[in-house]
Order: sequence, then structure tokens, then C-alpha cells
Amino acid sequence: GVLIGVIAVQGNVSEHVGAIERAAAATGHDVNVVEIRESGVVPDCDALALPGGESTTISRLLRLEGIDDEIRAHADAGKPILATCAGLIVASRDARDDRVDTLDLIDVSVDRNAFGRQVDSFEAGLDVSGLDDPFHAVFIRAPVVDEVGAGVETLATWEDHPVAVRDGPVVATAFHPELTDDYRIHRLALFDRLDDDAGGNTDTEAETDA
Ligand code: GLN
Repeated sequence: GVLIGVIAVQGNVSEHVGAIERAAAATGHDVNVVEIRESGVVPDCDALALPGGESTTISRLLRLEGIDDEIRAHADAGKPILATCAGLIVASRDARDDRVDTLDLIDVSVDRNAFGRQVDSFEAGLDVSGLDDPFHAVFIRAPVVDEVGAGVETLATWEDHPVAVRDGPVVATAFHPELTDDYRIHRLALFDRLDDDAGGNTDTEAETDA
């Protein structure tokens, strides 16, 4: 089986646990989910979820508990992470807010409450790269991704803003995939990636010399 950690210092923790369990059941994975509030657990995990909530609080607690460096090491090792909303802010390169000590896992910069300044929350059907049918996305005081590095793949946009991105092992969304029954983002970010890693030959690079 696999061990998936949900960073649980603050935020939408139980919803992620539920989504991971649904995705595991649907894909036939034997999974244990652990809620992480202190250091020493992340190194045992095969994959992580970094939930939404309040990014300044999450950032402060990750640092206080010494979990921040463990998450960086997890990503450096190429292990999957799904970061949502405040999790995206924390995982970014720059949140333009001194109170958020970003982890620099994804080469994007974000404006923390940009959507939220206009409208507190909204929902939208999104075409997401890798999913066959639109994903019903719930946005709550969502961040806007305003700079995207060259190595970052945009998986979905809303009104020309990237709202789902992938940078190597990390998938991040400005919305909350854990708040609906639809576990496809969790499957994509966590289980598809774990399966790929187990299978070995994932990337279908174009053959240069065929
Ligand atoms: N804008 C919030 C923050 O800065 C995130 C909102 C959310 O996770 N729903 O933390």
C-alpha cells in the first residue's frame, strides 16, 4: 500500500482525506492516509496533500514545526504533492506577502486574494488537461497566479488566469477539488503520478533519432 500525508496544521483537512480515500477506492489502491501536524512523518509518505485554509497561518505553522524543509525534500525527491488554494500560495515561489514564507515548489508567483477581492466565492466548470469531462471547481477567496515559469504546465484556466498548474511532481489548484465528490484531481495529481513512477517509463518524450 501507499502512505499519503495530508498536511493538517490548519485548513480543509478532513475533506482531503475523504477525497483521497474515494480516489484510492475508485482506482483500486490500498492506501493509508495520515494527518500531519509535526515533523518526522513527511519522510515516510509517498505523496502529500497541502490543503487550503489560511496561507499565512499554514506557512507560520509549517516553519514552527519544521515541516517546511521536509515538504521541500519530498518535492526534490520527485514525490507527488497536490496543493490547493492556500496550499498553492504556500507552494508558490512568491506570494508577494512577507507573512507567507513560500516553499518555492512551483515556479509561479501569486496574488493571494485577487479573485476574493472581487467576489468572495464562485463556481465554474473547467476543462482540465488530462480529464475527459469538465471539472466543477469551487473557488473561495482564491489566489490568482500571475507569473508562470517556463517549466510550468498550465492544466486549466479561468478567464485567462491559470487556475491549475503542474511543476514536476507538484500539481496546484486555485480552487478546492476536495469540496466536491469529484476525486479526479486527486487521482490525477497523486495516484496517476504514483502509478507512473512505479511503472518507470512515464514521459513519452519525442524520439529524436528514430
Ligand atoms: N486567500 C486565502 C489565503 O491567503 C486562501 C483561501 C483558501 O484557501 N480558501 O490564505
